[in-house]
Amino acid sequence: MKFSTKAVHSGEQPDFKSGGDVVSPIHLSATFARREVDKPPKGLEYSRTENPTRSALEKKLAALENAKFGLAFSSGMAAEATLLLTILSEGDHVVAGDDLYGGTRRLLETTFRKFGVSTSYVDSRHTTMVTKALTRKTKVVWLESPSNPLMRICDIRSIANAASKHGVVSIVDNTFASPCLQNPLELGATAVVHSTTKYIGGHSDVVGGAVMLSDKELYARLKFNQNSIGAVPSPIDCFLVMRGAKTLQLRMERHSENAMRVASYLLRHPKVAAVHYPGLPSHPQHGLAERQMRAPGGMLSAELRGGLPAVKRFLGRLRTFSLAESLGGVESLVDHPATMTHSSVPASEREKVGVSDGLVRFSVGIEDSEDLLADLKQALR
Ligand SMILES: *Cc1c(COP(=O)(O)O)cnc(C)c1O
Repeated sequence: MKFSTKAVHSGEQPDFKSGGDVVSPIHLSATFARREVDKPPKGLEYSRTENPTRSALEKKLAALENAKFGLAFSSGMAAEATLLLTILSEGDHVVAGDDLYGGTRRLLETTFRKFGVSTSYVDSRHTTMVTKALTRKTKVVWLESPSNPLMRICDIRSIANAASKHGVVSIVDNTFASPCLQNPLELGATAVVHSTTKYIGGHSDVVGGAVMLSDKELYARLKFNQNSIGAVPSPIDCFLVMRGAKTLQLRMERHSENAMRVASYLLRHPKVAAVHYPGLPSHPQHGLAERQMRAPGGMLSAELRGGLPAVKRFLGRLRTFSLAESLGGVESLVDHPATMTHSSVPASEREKVGVSDGLVRFSVGIEDSEDLLADLKQALR
């Protein structure tokens, strides 16, 4: 089955015994009655452990990444934390890209460091930098591509291969690309995580997370911890993520088209010093992005001339773009990483990787691109 067909149908076959709903019903029941002590009907016991609406979503999520298994969580961070808790023990080591989601870095540096897990951050654009950082204690390589907020691309296949030769698990945060544009499991990654809050949900109206993987043994341990730790999404949230997922391909096509127009416009503008977008031929890894992704997606960042004062004036004048954290919704958003999404990253670290005060990140929505360009034009003026 092709992507859009799976997005619409996977996990949601009509159940003719219960009336043939075309859309998965929202099963709000927290618990399920049984007739005898030892035989719960359909195996359902309690909604933290298993819930029919969540099961439908999990089937769909697995299908989107061509994975054998999918698990849904109450947020992207809950998915990341549960997955890492499942794999890591005291004394273990993680190698992560140095340009990654601020919350992931915070999770590794606060919560996990406290339990004796250390992390090395490397420039994952160079596979050799990743392999050089592997030690006998390394258990996980954590990747993001495109990265946040500099839109750097790493070679998922070569890094996943190198990691697996060392017996190391590779995890890709695939939130920026979405499963529509990139499937890391097919490139050799062990597991994929998503903040379904972003493109999969797609409407900025639900917070959720997911892990997709095909390793049966890791899945079993992760599912045990999903129940044991309990960061599960509500059935209503599962429904919203499922509804969003159905239009993922339509949206990603439009996001990519609009982002390409915005990137090209900014590239030519005299007040813009640099544009980071994998769809531009000027992007240093444009070729790799073309091989690894089906389209360049809706995220980009740009460096404005004039530093923080210029950025503040620009952000204050935008009208169609809303100044807000998050990304991946139908509406266009703009973010100032240094003071917003990446403020938890120490300033020295931020400067080292290139997240300057002049950097602005755009999540280009599905509005008419003429209106988006007009908004940028007046704000830059
Ligand atoms: C938002 C985001 C997360 C965290 O997801 P939440 O749903 O906000 O918990 C993780 N990784 C990336 C790349 C994100 O954009």
